[in-house]
Amino acid sequence: MNDLSELIPIPPKGNMNHGLSSAQEATMLKIFRRPGDLTAKCSDPSVGLKKLLVFGIKAGPLKVSGMKYAVQSLFQIFDQVKSEQPEVYDQVKTAGMLCVRGRRANPGKYSNHSWGTAIDVYFGKSVVSQGVHQTQRGVYILYPYFNNHGWYWGAEFSGDSVDTMHFELAEETILKIGTMKPMAKSVQKKAVKRKVKAEESSGANRR
Ligand SMILES: [Zn+2]
Repeated sequence: MNDLSELIPIPPKGNMNHGLSSAQEATMLKIFRRPGDLTAKCSDPSVGLKKLLVFGIKAGPLKVSGMKYAVQSLFQIFDQVKSEQPEVYDQVKTAGMLCVRGRRANPGKYSNHSWGTAIDVYFGKSVVSQGVHQTQRGVYILYPYFNNHGWYWGAEFSGDSVDTMHFELAEETILKIGTMKPMAKSVQKKAVKRKVKAEESSGANRR
């Protein structure tokens, strides 16, 4: 039987995260603003961020709290995994998604878990700690699914930052959400205003 928690080597850099890079703090702050206090443990999400979050949702085999867009993406990922890798689907666990905090290796910067756009996954009894240059077999099977849906795999972080249980919405994916979100809203608002004005003026003309 395949032990999905077994540790195996990380694939070469050229084999993962094609066209995807880690989401930069500056990008996250620009698009989603400050997520809350920069603390070592999880602090409360800001009022603005809370509007973008969903809590305690079942995404396939996992129960998660995180950014709506990211959780919807997990639905799609695990739909595919369920039909193609049922054993992986049945055994995958999460060590958490949303947590407003600093990075463990660099506490002056926010972890991408702060916005609920990153998730840690593992198999068996324990996670693979950050800094370990190995991955669990189950996570290795999962990474192409995450990559295909615009998630960056932390196995490519260099040196002590390597983090094979970690997936996050990639910089490229975040930028796409960024163009969708605030712009779409402001365009909509303007359209409504224009419609109201047009109705008002046409009403005035008739009267
Ligand atoms: Zn993580």
